[in-house]
Amino acid sequence: MPPRPRHVVLERRIATLKAQLMTLGDLRPGSLSEQYNVCGTAGCHCKADPPRKHGPYYQVSFTWQGRSKSQFVRREHVATVRQHLRNYQRLRTLVEQWIAAGLELSRLRLAEAALPSSSGGRAPRKKRAATARRRQTDAS
Ligand SMILES: [Zn+2]
Repeated sequence: MPPRPRHVVLERRIATLKAQLMTLGDLRPGSLSEQYNVCGTAGCHCKADPPRKHGPYYQVSFTWQGRSKSQFVRREHVATVRQHLRNYQRLRTLVEQWIAAGLELSRLRLAEAALPSSSGGRAPRKKRAATARRRQTDAS
């Protein structure tokens, strides 16, 4: 079986990426952190030796439209927020892969467009042919 043309491989990869993007659930950017605090109450266990600080308190930090923000997250919402953060990372990964495939596919399409009679020759030959055509165009 002959190998699939590269552009077919890339088209299928992009179609798969689009399908995966459609399955993403709720998402949000950011990272979750835990904090432990000390209060102002005298004799509280948070000032004991060793101290047992209050917490954990959860906070999600993110940058959106050039601004850094952070929000407290209730303990019962931590699992949900973690899932949203994972979905966001998945989005970024899928988009990165789409861009990578898109760049390669664009390069292939432009090379094909520059050489209409080509039936998938090796890249270096294509490149020289494209350069030659460009010189002809410039001369006329
Ligand atoms: Zn305390």
